[in-house]
Amino acid sequence: MADVIVAGAGIIGLTTAWRLVERGWNVTVCDPAPASGATRAAAGMLAPASEVVWGQPSLYPLMVESARRYADLVERLVPGRPEEVGYLPTETLVVAADHADRAALDELTALQASLGLRAVRVSSLAARRLEGALAPGIAGGVSLPDDHQIDPRAMCVALIEALGDRVIRSEVAGLLREDGATRGVRLVDGTEHRGDQVVLCTGLGSLPELPLLPLRPVYGDILRLEPSRGARPLLTRTVRGLVRGRSVYLVPRRDGSLVLGATTREDDDPRPSAEGVHRLLDDAWRLVPGVLDTRLVETMTRARPGTPDDVPLVGRLDPGLVVSTGYFRHGILLAPLGSEVTADLVDRLPVEPGMLAALDPYRFDRSDPTTGGAP
Ligand SMILES: Cc1cc2nc3c(=O)[nH]c(=O)nc-3n(C[C@H](O)[C@H](O)[C@H](O)COP(=O)(O)OP(=O)(O)OC[C@H]3O[C@@H](n4cnc5c(N)ncnc54)[C@H](O)[C@@H]3O)c2cc1C
Repeated sequence: MADVIVAGAGIIGLTTAWRLVERGWNVTVCDPAPASGATRAAAGMLAPASEVVWGQPSLYPLMVESARRYADLVERLVPGRPEEVGYLPTETLVVAADHADRAALDELTALQASLGLRAVRVSSLAARRLEGALAPGIAGGVSLPDDHQIDPRAMCVALIEALGDRVIRSEVAGLLREDGATRGVRLVDGTEHRGDQVVLCTGLGSLPELPLLPLRPVYGDILRLEPSRGARPLLTRTVRGLVRGRSVYLVPRRDGSLVLGATTREDDDPRPSAEGVHRLLDDAWRLVPGVLDTRLVETMTRARPGTPDDVPLVGRLDPGLVVSTGYFRHGILLAPLGSEVTADLVDRLPVEPGMLAALDPYRFDRSDPTTGGAP
């Protein structure tokens, strides 16, 4: 068995490490605080259709392909127990708050249909028959049968359990490099771990040797709501909505709680924003009035690892170094595909050339992120 070191234990590092173990590698995962980054905040929507926006042609096929692989990943991780990781392959309902939002939703539905994604228009009455907590005044919606959900925190618990003592709670301080190739990592306490390959899944975390990866933090505020004592859960499926042109989503968890998100801001402030919290509750209330009867049990902010085109950075940087980061707002959805491509790169297996080009970490700047020189 050869050694591979995975730096970073968010959803991407953990699924990649787990796949590499499946393939027979001797894996060590290093992270001072596993699953505490963007992954901890994520709502867990697996939404190849409702996440479609104009002008991202290289992203759609990746989202669709990864969604297709989810059921298999879940079945292999927790055989016969998908509920353990909150995997719910039920439809998502997207509703419009008023007629202007309805018009915007119709345009989006046309785009989804043009890409071959399934989207079924539903009347206001039909939407309210599906989810009785929806406001009577909503202007109808769309049912997206292929947009599902998972509980990212539960998924990470299952992955960490499967990886066992391969997960080391320590920070990678730098790479061990010899003759232009990475040969291992140096941890903050000075310990060195040597390996045949190092895989960087550090999200937004940077290393001194990698100053040039084009990543930026895109903050999101997200809330968790619980039914008040004795009350029944408000929703049975993910409800997304457009409210005065802004999007909002409510994702029900198995324990009856709701995840309400999410804002998007690039102000470099990691604290929850009062405006964001107000906005989320105000928009959610217009779609699901009963939100005001719930209890606010958590307010959290995390940064999504954004790239210039919203597509991840996955590729080989040197003979011993593979990077897999920049998953922006789709890292939970893209985990099955991203981890498989990353494992294929470690295994030096061929990857479909179109996909490799779309993910190429050098696609914005041909200089080497480890040195600033030519790759
Ligand atoms: C509010 C919000 C809602 C979201 N909702 C969704 C959603 O519904 N669906 C979806 O698909 N995506 C969603 N996302 C996006 C998704 O969360 C991210 O794309 C994904 O979590 C990125 O995973 P990651 O493993 O690359 O990064 P992270 O989860 O940030 O993990 C990186 C890990 O690397 C570790 N690390 C950093 N530096 C070092 C170092 N030097 N040494 C060792 N370890 C290090 C960190 O401790 C961390 O654990 C959401 C994001 C946010 C913020």
